[in-house]
Amino acid sequence: MNFTLPSIAEIKKKGIDVKTARAILELDEDTYFEQVMPLAKQLRFEAFGNEVSFCTITNAKSGACIEDCGFCAQSANYKQAPSPVYPLLTAEKILEQAKEAESIGGTEFSIVTSGRGMNKQRELDTMVDAITQIRQQTDLETCASLGLMQREDLQRLKDAGMIHYHHNIETARSYFPKVVTSHTWEEEVQTVTLAKEMGFEVCCGGIMGMGENKDQRIEFIFQLKEIDPDSIPLNFLNPRPGTPMAELHDLTPLDCLKLISVMRLAMPQKELFICGGKEVNLQQYQDLIYDAGASGAMIGNYLTTQGRSPEQELALAKKLGFKPVGPHQRAKASA
Ligand code: SF4
Repeated sequence: MNFTLPSIAEIKKKGIDVKTARAILELDEDTYFEQVMPLAKQLRFEAFGNEVSFCTITNAKSGACIEDCGFCAQSANYKQAPSPVYPLLTAEKILEQAKEAESIGGTEFSIVTSGRGMNKQRELDTMVDAITQIRQQTDLETCASLGLMQREDLQRLKDAGMIHYHHNIETARSYFPKVVTSHTWEEEVQTVTLAKEMGFEVCCGGIMGMGENKDQRIEFIFQLKEIDPDSIPLNFLNPRPGTPMAELHDLTPLDCLKLISVMRLAMPQKELFICGGKEVNLQQYQDLIYDAGASGAMIGNYLTTQGRSPEQELALAKKLGFKPVGPHQRAKASA
């Protein structure tokens, strides 16, 4: 295949274009490893030096969600999907989990809740209390992922000291209706835009391997580029029994590496975290995520699935000579 990449100087300035990104997804393994991965690795190094960030999450309120996201075991629409159901944890319990996350090497702690958004003032009070205590009692950077949000509620979290807000757009705009019908892609983007406007460091990404085609994968990546979040969590579908996507196995380990690299080459300076589904999808290539362009990973467990142990993740980072730092404090080598 006749394939040429732009120079690293050009890529650093504006990233690769859609055509080059799409071509990378078709490359054979040798060409990818010889031409693309070294460049992605170099760009990652130029932006982040030897630093990596590790995000940890707590599932602070689980299940019983009325939304119908096709990948999610927490949706009440999928009665056969096994998922724990419990109301919002107390602020003390969330603090306890934050301290545990810090003790295993986490640098950022995200409080995630199921549901369309915070639906009771009481829940928001608990969140504000939890964030205040985490800020006072740990060195963790705080983040929350609470669904679609209003300005007043986000403001209370900001006043409590929350730095990051996480909200995924999940997939390409053109494919979104095949994944979710109970809310729109535009509503997702509105929340992200609002959080950005309000000065949060915004973390926004999605999930690959949900049945979208390669053009839609590229569409999703370039829509993220347009949204311009501060960091991007990239998940690979880990199909959950009982959900409409239970039988989907769309990605090879090489596909996953290529997608990481395309993201790095399209957005050379962005934080890129590899999150849910990395173990089952990347398999033998799991240790290559940083060479492919990732600048961080989620450690510990995901929302409804288990991750690789934090010790393994930290051991890998150590072996590669990386130093874990919070993304907010990261002194970019390129700055
Ligand atoms: S992803 Fe969030 S909003 Fe969608 S079903 Fe799951 S918990 Fe509900």
